[in-house]
Amino acid sequence: MATLRNSRQRTAVLEELSSRCDHPTAEQLYLQLKKKLPSLSLATVYRNLRILQQEGKVVAILSSDAEHFDISKEQHYHLTCRKCGKIVDVQIENSDWINSLVCGFGGKVEDHSLMFYGLCPQCCKKDGEKAG
Ligand code: ZN
Ligand code: MN
Repeated sequence: MATLRNSRQRTAVLEELSSRCDHPTAEQLYLQLKKKLPSLSLATVYRNLRILQQEGKVVAILSSDAEHFDISKEQHYHLTCRKCGKIVDVQIENSDWINSLVCGFGGKVEDHSLMFYGLCPQCCKKDGEKAG
C-alpha cells in the first residue's frame, strides 16, 4: 500500500510540474497538490522531486532566491526577471560552443548550466523597454 501511495504521489508531482511553465518551487507545488492530496506533506514533495531528478525526469534550477523545478525537455536555458522574479525559458542557438569556452584547466567539460538575468517579456513590455 505504501508503495502504491508513493508512486501515485510521484505521478501527481510529475503531472503538476508538466502542466505548468512557471518553474515552481517545491513549496508552490506542494500548495497546489495539497488541494487534491490532503495527506501530502512538503517533505514528500521534496523526496519525490529528488527521486524524479535522479531518474532524469526533473531538473532543479538554482535562482538567486530559491530552488525551482522544471520538467526535463530539450536543452533550454532560463532567465530570471529582476522585476517580477519569474523564471522564463530562453533558447540559445547552437549552444555546443559554450563548453569550448573553458580551456586549460586540465579537466574535461561535459555540460554546463547558465542563468540569464533581465526582464521577462511582460515586464519588458510594461517598462517600454526595447526587447533584446
Ligand atoms: Zn517580469
Ligand atoms: Mn524551463
